[in-house]
Amino acid sequence: MQLKLLTKFTVVTSAAVLAAMIIFALINIRSLKNIFLEEAVKDVDNLSETLIRTTHYQMLENDRERVRQMIQEVGTQKGIEHIRLINKDGVIIFSTDHVEIGEVINKNAEACNMCHGKEVPLLQTSSMNRSRIFKDRTGKEVLGIARGIYTDPSCLVAECHFHGPDDKLLGVLDVIVSLEDMNSKMIGHRNGIIILTFALLLLLLTSLAALTQRVINRPVGKLLANTRRLATGNLESRIENPSGDELGELAQSFNVMAKNLRNAQKELREWGGALEARVEDRTREIRDMQKQLIQSEKMAALGEMSAGIAHEINNPLTGILMFGSIIAGDPRLDPGIKPDVDTILQETRRCGAIVQGLLEFSRNSVSHKREVSINHLLDKTLSLLEHQTLFFNIRILRLYHPALPDVMVDPNQIEQVLMNIILNAAQAMPEGGDLILKTDLREPGSLVHLEIRDTGCGIPAENLEKIFNPFFTTKGVRGTGLGLSVSYGIIDSHGGRINVDSEVGNGTTFIISLPLSPPARDARGDVGASGPAV
Ligand code: ADP
Repeated sequence: MQLKLLTKFTVVTSAAVLAAMIIFALINIRSLKNIFLEEAVKDVDNLSETLIRTTHYQMLENDRERVRQMIQEVGTQKGIEHIRLINKDGVIIFSTDHVEIGEVINKNAEACNMCHGKEVPLLQTSSMNRSRIFKDRTGKEVLGIARGIYTDPSCLVAECHFHGPDDKLLGVLDVIVSLEDMNSKMIGHRNGIIILTFALLLLLLTSLAALTQRVINRPVGKLLANTRRLATGNLESRIENPSGDELGELAQSFNVMAKNLRNAQKELREWGGALEARVEDRTREIRDMQKQLIQSEKMAALGEMSAGIAHEINNPLTGILMFGSIIAGDPRLDPGIKPDVDTILQETRRCGAIVQGLLEFSRNSVSHKREVSINHLLDKTLSLLEHQTLFFNIRILRLYHPALPDVMVDPNQIEQVLMNIILNAAQAMPEGGDLILKTDLREPGSLVHLEIRDTGCGIPAENLEKIFNPFFTTKGVRGTGLGLSVSYGIIDSHGGRINVDSEVGNGTTFIISLPLSPPARDARGDVGASGPAV
């Protein structure tokens, strides 16, 4: 199981603090015990001293009974177990515990060892050295202090004097007190220390845990949650109100990182979008170019065939027309069949016009290019057409680029194109409408862009693919279907492009773009150098 940061921290800190406080408590208890003991020793020693001093005169007078009474009296005090007098031979000469009177104490016993342990017994030593702790007959813990009774100078002159000048030590007063009182006080203090230690420990750990939770756990938790959110792709994830410490700095760095990541992602998306748009544009361009190529090839093949047919038909047609005219003018002609002959002549002329169109579509004529203004060519074409009845109900709008540069073209051929398209537009609006002519400069200043828009019937989608094919017409005998195919060939030979956009019921727009300077293949002025002119 993974331990949480707070748990780990709390467990380790608690263990360290607990160990430190236990050691501290033990040292405390130990030194307290020593203090208590020293105090007890001092008290008992003082008592011994007092006892020796107060019995001084009785001893000088050798009033043993009085001494015993006094000792007996003092021995009844609370806490005193018993008091005994031991002579220098180790015989207990008096004791408040009468049972032991007369017993001889072994000098080598632990209690006597502090003075008698040396080769020459010590006459003076510290009270602590003279003290001992042991268990009495009832098993109670007691403290004993032996105090020497020394020969006083007055002893040497006293009546009862029987000690020699070398008898420095007369005996020992041994006071034994109970340690129960001290021990119960000690236990009370020890318990107090333990309780205080644990209370302090609890307080310390609680504050430590609260502090860790607030200063470390909460900010780390926030950082962790936000990092997880970031990892799942949420780049809007931010850490609110970062603190002023190192973790706050970390949170701020996280916020900066998330912001940079989001910006980078946004940029990438934008690049992706732009790239997609560019690919789409290029694909469309390639598709248009492909269409145009197919159309050009189709035109080239059709042009070749049309040229052959036109040549073959032209001569017999000339013969028919010539002889037909002779017959029609002959006075011998039966007036009843004159209308039929006229019809033959009329249809022959129509065939002648078609052949003429075919020849135009397929000819390899030399074009005469010069710099002309497309705006001017549009005006010229309109001036030829706008007075015809077909244009009476049509509103013509000229949206010309005011500073359109001149283009290197064959003006006659371009006029022919404009004428075809404008006539078609007018024919598509028999009830009247708008004819909008717009010129512009495109692809930064290298192409002249021309739009001829009408609000006529429009071209159905299925016909849009066919309108540039020779002989495609929806006008029956009134049309030849050659106008747009010839126009396509002319624009193509100028290195330009012609497109159409139409919607049935809304109108049609022809879009022509011409380069300011024609490409090298057309610089020679040949129309349709790669094949028959269209
Ligand atoms: P024609 O005019 O002799 O029919 P074109 O090649 O000029 O031959 O035109 C081919 C066909 O394209 C037309 O018959 C007509 O159906 C269609 N067309 C051309 N221009 C337009 C236009 N502006 N509006 C509607 N249809 C048009």
